[in-house]
Amino acid sequence: MIRVLVWNEFHHEQKHEHIRAIYPEGIHGCIRDFLKTNEDLQVTTATIFDENIGLSDELLENTDVLLWWGHVRHKDVPDEWVEKIVRRVNEGMGFIGLHSAHHSKIFKALMGTPCNLQWRESGDHERLWNIAPNHPVMKGIPEYFELDGEETYGERFDIPRPDELLMIGWYSGGEVFRSVCTFTRGIGRILYIQPGHETFPTFHNQYIQKLITNGVYWAAPNCRVQLTGPHSVVSPEDRRKNGDQPTDYIR
Ligand code: ZN
Repeated sequence: MIRVLVWNEFHHEQKHEHIRAIYPEGIHGCIRDFLKTNEDLQVTTATIFDENIGLSDELLENTDVLLWWGHVRHKDVPDEWVEKIVRRVNEGMGFIGLHSAHHSKIFKALMGTPCNLQWRESGDHERLWNIAPNHPVMKGIPEYFELDGEETYGERFDIPRPDELLMIGWYSGGEVFRSVCTFTRGIGRILYIQPGHETFPTFHNQYIQKLITNGVYWAAPNCRVQLTGPHSVVSPEDRRKNGDQPTDYIR
């Protein structure tokens, strides 16, 4: 069982009728519903309106993959939680940053760069090119797929060089963007997915749902490490002579 936490700011859906019409139960509700069709995913949601912004030490300890959507309230996420989440990623928790999560405190802390980009809200048509068809996240994704409308995100995207670039987005206005890319921090796997502006039905798109679902399976850890850096008093050779077995990672 993979334990998934979908965190959403949930600001726009409550404030604007036309956005609520697209996501009646919030963006987190939409993502939860399509992820839940997979029996091996245990999906929990949290929003900034929940007590303690929906987070607790116990919940974070018991999360394998965290999905994050935020936009106008990044600053309201306490630094304490940013530090705890970054630590969990280094220990092995997967993190999927969705759309404007590029400017979340967490994503910026994980990247170590400002993560700025060019943007326009002009309802451009977007074509997303699959340039890594053999990557697990791209399973079932065709040569390209299209979104009738999205917020335009353009290069230069101020991120460190990704481990893998999976999709390039092209917009009818002329911009291009590194739309789906991966990173590793510690042993944690990070996926960034650009589409997902709140005024478009992007999370209802079958290929976006496939990307996110594949991303959850890809980012899920098979073990966990402790970030302690212990003083190894007994050498591996002494342990061999004592007949001690190597310690396993936390499974
Ligand atoms: Zn947006």
